Amino acid sequence: MAKVLCVLYDDPVDGYPKSYAIDSIPKLEKYPGGQTMPTPKGIDFKPGALLGCVSGELGLRKFLESNGHTLVVTSDKDGANSTLDRELVDAEVVISQPFWPAYLTRERIAKAPKLKLAITAGIGSDHVDLQAAMDRELTVAEVTYCNSISVAEHVVMMILALVRNYIPSYDWVIKNGWNIADCAARSYDVEGMNVGTVGAGRIGSAVLRRMKPFDVKLHYTDRHRLSPEIEKELGLTFHPNAESLVKVCDVVTINTPLHPETEHMFDDAMIGKMKRGAYLVNTARGKICDRDAVARALKDGQLAGYAGDVWFPQPPPKDHPWRSMPHHGMTPHVSGTSLSAQARYAAGVREILECWFEKRPIRDEYLIVSGGKLAGAGAHSYSAGNATGGSEEAAKFKK
Ligand code: NDP
Repeated sequence: MAKVLCVLYDDPVDGYPKSYAIDSIPKLEKYPGGQTMPTPKGIDFKPGALLGCVSGELGLRKFLESNGHTLVVTSDKDGANSTLDRELVDAEVVISQPFWPAYLTRERIAKAPKLKLAITAGIGSDHVDLQAAMDRELTVAEVTYCNSISVAEHVVMMILALVRNYIPSYDWVIKNGWNIADCAARSYDVEGMNVGTVGAGRIGSAVLRRMKPFDVKLHYTDRHRLSPEIEKELGLTFHPNAESLVKVCDVVTINTPLHPETEHMFDDAMIGKMKRGAYLVNTARGKICDRDAVARALKDGQLAGYAGDVWFPQPPPKDHPWRSMPHHGMTPHVSGTSLSAQARYAAGVREILECWFEKRPIRDEYLIVSGGKLAGAGAHSYSAGNATGGSEEAAKFKK
């Protein structure tokens, strides 16, 4: 019987919800493109409930314990002697979420001799040292597509919020003001702008599709080119690399995984190639951007705005410059953990666990690492290596 260690974010400060804003969430039949929704044999939660926090337990306790397994759930993941470190020593499965990542560094993996499976309850497994996982022949799996549309919706919201200057205008209401000129002095229409995505996978292409009705000119770059039919339908301009795209775009959105090829892709040099006054929206991973280069570019006007929900490390220290830089629209990492998304990723985690314990293959599209190499979705979208360097800084949040 296995020990399953599940690292989840803390409950709401006012306690676990007793009721919700809406009574039921829409039931989706399949993802765009036809991939089927998670298909566990059963679920022990009500879709629409808060599942991603400690008390939510991803709805897994009944299933695991009734099959004789042990479930340990904690939010204590950083710093010396964390519960994560203590419980890892005999865990077979670690489940973690990108929103509150349990950084599985090479050192931690070395201290977990029984560890065989790392599941990401969400998408993006860069919090695992994937090179170390390959070397140890661990399986790394994530719930591909579970929150891609959730993020695409968030990207559209952030593009509009930045360009139209929504957040400062909202602030004037809270401050009892009626400062039209202050609100308007940085407010534009998106219509007619050049909008581009770096990465046109599930999220990137959903963003393109959602931005099309705004009558913008759409651009993308990706390692694999989209079909001519899709390029024609959306009126896309393909760029062979990010440099070419950023030179012509007023708005750039980043939608690639974090892996050695994309780490710090948006540094001083890349941001310097952007149009002066461009907007950058990054809901992919904080480390794809150079932290200080972004803050500098906002201060000197090279960027007109920056928004996103991803940081490095997570949680970021209290003095992280992105909390206080000008013209930003940052949130904590929330775009992929709407209650709608949680129902899908909790069901997907259950599906992966059922496969694992019943010794059935995990869907290829969920696999990132398997058999000592990148596999499935990981082989398509990642490059080998490690992107967890510096994650120990997450312990500073507590200070
Ligand atoms: P996909 O795998 O569908 O898409 C990623 C795309 O990025 C692929 O098309 C891939 O290319 C492309 N890509 C990879 N490396 C490069 C590169 N060096 N240059 C250009 N393109 C590249 O994943 P999703 O769209 O579903 O998710 C993307 C990322 O978004 C996740 O990995 C995760 O980090 C982040 N995310 C964030 C969430 C949040 O809550 N903020 C939630 C969900 C995801 P190809 O496969 O063609 O090689």
